[in-house]
Amino acid sequence: MHSADCLFCRIIKREIPAKVAAENELVFAFHDVNPQAPVHILIVPKTHFESVNDLNNDLSSYLAPMTIMAKELASQNGIANSGYRIVLNTGKDAGQSVFHLHMHLLGGRHMAWPPG
Ligand code: AMP
Repeated sequence: MHSADCLFCRIIKREIPAKVAAENELVFAFHDVNPQAPVHILIVPKTHFESVNDLNNDLSSYLAPMTIMAKELASQNGIANSGYRIVLNTGKDAGQSVFHLHMHLLGGRHMAWPPG
């Protein structure tokens, strides 16, 4: 299911251009337009869910494939050994700005903890 006015649904349907990193039956990945690290890829379910707050049995079947894709992209982009961070911003306080659930894959530089 796609939402007509959702930015990431429109990217998945290729109505809006993006630099595609990977795709399979369930999951779509593309490079962040405003990268916060040398590698910054967004990994999204092809079905529209707003956030982790929507987590249910249906969405849970996407999370493992999304994480596997993140792991594969980390390897392909040379950061599997140096390290990377997977982030699921959820809601206002976490800075979620696009309400189509997305996993950030970030790496290629040292990252501080705790995050800002
Ligand atoms: P979040 O703040 O966690 O909701 O993350 C949304 C991310 O989407 C941000 O890192 C944005 O830079 C990224 N973004 C917004 N519009 C686009 C776009 N058209 N193509 C690629 N990434 C985008």
